Amino acid sequence: MVFNGPTLWELRLNDGDKTWRRALAGGVVDAQEIARRGWILASELKHAAAIEAGLAIRVPKEAIAAIEAGDASIAKQFVPSLNELTITRSEVEDPVGDVPHQPMRGLVHRYPDRVLLKPFFHCASYCRFCFRRFQVAKEKPLSKDELAAIFAYIAQHPEVTEVIISGGEPMMMTDRRLACLLAQISAIPHVELVRIHSRAVTLLPERITPEFVHLLRSSSKPVWWVVHINAANEWTAAACDAARRLVDGGVPLLSQSVLLKGVNNTVDQLLALFRQCLRLRVKPYYLHYPDLARGTHHFRIPLDEAIALVSELRGKLPGYGVPELVVDIPGGHGKVPVGKRWAERLESGEWCFTSPCDGSESLVHYEI
Ligand SMILES: *Cc1c(COP(=O)(O)O)cnc(C)c1O
Ligand code: SF4
Repeated sequence: MVFNGPTLWELRLNDGDKTWRRALAGGVVDAQEIARRGWILASELKHAAAIEAGLAIRVPKEAIAAIEAGDASIAKQFVPSLNELTITRSEVEDPVGDVPHQPMRGLVHRYPDRVLLKPFFHCASYCRFCFRRFQVAKEKPLSKDELAAIFAYIAQHPEVTEVIISGGEPMMMTDRRLACLLAQISAIPHVELVRIHSRAVTLLPERITPEFVHLLRSSSKPVWWVVHINAANEWTAAACDAARRLVDGGVPLLSQSVLLKGVNNTVDQLLALFRQCLRLRVKPYYLHYPDLARGTHHFRIPLDEAIALVSELRGKLPGYGVPELVVDIPGGHGKVPVGKRWAERLESGEWCFTSPCDGSESLVHYEI
């Protein structure tokens, strides 16, 4: 089950690739080792195979020190749990509805103007709440022929102006492969933007080599980067340096986080996370309510609590530091922004506003 590198593609590594692949190998992928370290009980080991059938195990090297120090905000994300064996009635295999919008393997075309490209399904860490666990660590990388068919599809769809490279973890591909992918995307005239969704900045910071930053910089189409990060403590010294390398190299960074019980479901934890993002020039973009992936109920808090939590951030963070809370609803209907209603129209025609500074209510009438 555990995958240690590209297979289908010819493997030619530069020195930077060799460095990050050594760091990748420093993660923990073995349930026995996890039990030996005391992160799970010895009695839980006999369920390891059933858990791994749902999602493979990989605790990234970057997370080990925090887990050893007892940091639940990190441990809960990567250390497998028996809770994953409980599948609730509403949980489904493909919770965000990729499959109904997949013209071919590895491409999701849900919004008219954007496509999501999934070239690679393995990751530097296996996050226990992963919403693509039906594919992640299970499917093979796309072959050259499959990619060629995808580029032909995008070329035939002039309405597509952005290609989002996601996965799995796209940064598990070598520099050479990524350079090739970027060149192929950039060659399509109507594609204006490239976006990368990755966890590598915090969980495999060695991946952000100077060679790689140079590669992004040489892209003829602008590249935006979305950092997946859920806890302030993921910002290790190495992760902060990796973020600086990208921003200094001209790549704008956004963040997306998943609201996870026991990881970041308090106001203080969210404030610490987003404040540290801002200090690193990472703009908080989305906060995802956890998708209905199989075996993930233990990560969810009630949606109304999630809405109340996020409304408390407003007034405590700069406006550009508050991410949008979104729910990717089942069936592939997209990400729906959800939030507190700050303004309500009364029967009198007046509007009642709630202040984000002090919670007070004000009535205002607008003559039109
Ligand atoms: C999340 C997602 C996008 C990107 O949505 P944005 O709101 O632009 O961040 C695009 N396509 C698919 C299939 C997605 O799941
Ligand atoms: S890095 Fe992303 S795709 Fe990979 S396991 Fe984590 S959430 Fe899933």
